[in-house]
Amino acid sequence: MSNLSQNNEKHISFEVFPPKKDGNFLIATEVIKEISKLSPDFISVTYGAGGSQSKKTLEIASYIENELHITAVAHLTCIGSTKEEIYKRCKEFKERNVSKILALRGDRPKDMTDERYNHREFIYASDLIKFIKEKFDLSIIGACYPEKHFEALSLDDDLKYMRQKQDLGVESFISQLFFDNTYFYNFMEKARKVGIKASVHAGIMPVTSVKQIGTTVSLSGSSVPKKLSDLIAKYSDKPSDMYKAGIDYSINQIRDLLKNCVGEIHIYTMNKPDVAKAIIEGIQ
Ligand code: FAD
Repeated sequence: MSNLSQNNEKHISFEVFPPKKDGNFLIATEVIKEISKLSPDFISVTYGAGGSQSKKTLEIASYIENELHITAVAHLTCIGSTKEEIYKRCKEFKERNVSKILALRGDRPKDMTDERYNHREFIYASDLIKFIKEKFDLSIIGACYPEKHFEALSLDDDLKYMRQKQDLGVESFISQLFFDNTYFYNFMEKARKVGIKASVHAGIMPVTSVKQIGTTVSLSGSSVPKKLSDLIAKYSDKPSDMYKAGIDYSINQIRDLLKNCVGEIHIYTMNKPDVAKAIIEGIQ
C-alpha cells in the first residue's frame, strides 16, 4: 500500500471551522493560533453549504495565511451559489492571498426550494473545479470517500468521478473521516488502479465524547467498528475516560497508517487545541 509516502515522511494538516456566531471571531482566532503552534503543513477552514457564512471562511483563512503564516486551505461549496457568486468569492480569496481551495459540491441546504435546486448552476464538485480552473490561478483540492459517498451507487462509480476531478486539475485529495483503516487501504488500492496519482490526505476524527459520535456518523456516513463502539459503551458515563480513549483511538489509527506508508494525515480538530496537541505528541 502506498500513498506517496514511501519515504516515511509525516505530513500533518488540520481542519478548523469559523466561529458560528459573529462576535466570536477573536475566540476562534485564539483557538486556531494554539492549533497552529503544532506546525501543520496546512490548516483547512470549513464553509457553510449554502454559502451564507462565506465571509467567515475568508476571514479565518486569511488570518491563517497572512497572520499565522501557515498555508490556509479554504473550503468552498457550490450547491447554493451562482457562477457570479463563486467568481466573487474566488476573487476575494485570491486578493487575500488564499490560494488553495477545497472545491466541494456541498449538501442541499434544508431551506433550498425545489425550484432553486433544480436550476442550480453547479451540479457536481467537478463543475466547480472546471469553473475555477478556467478563471483563476488557484490550487484545487478535492474531497474523496474511502467508504464511498452516500449517493454513489458503487465505490467504482465514485472513483470514476474522483478520477475526473484529478483530470480537471485537482492536485490532492482530503478523505472523509474513517474509523477503520482497512477501508482506507482498500480504497487507496482501488484508487491507484483507476489512475489516481494525486496524494490523499487521510481524514482522522478524534471522538472525545459520546455525544459527538452520533452527529459525526450521521454527517459522514462512516461506519463505527466494534472496537470503537465498545469504547463508547464502556465510557458512556465517564466523560474524562472517553476523552482519553478517543484520543488514544486516533493515535493508534494514525500510527497504523504511518506504519503502512500513509504519511499524509488530516486531523479534524473540532477547534480543540488540547486534542490536536495530545494526538501530535502521541504519534511522535
Ligand atoms: P461531488 O464530488 O460532486 O460528489 C457528490 C456525489 O455525486 C457523489 O456520489 C459522486 O459519486 C457523484 N458525482 C460526482 N461527479 C459526478 C458526475 N460528473 N456525474 C454523476 N455523478 C457524479 N460540506 C460543507 O458544506 N462544508 C464543508 O466545509 C465541507 N468540507 C468537507 C471536507 C471534506 C474533506 C469532505 C470529505 C467533505 C466535506 N463536506 C463539506 C461535505 C461535502 O460537501 C458532501 O460530502 C457532499 O455531499 C459532496 O461533496 P463533494 O464535493 O464530494 O461532491
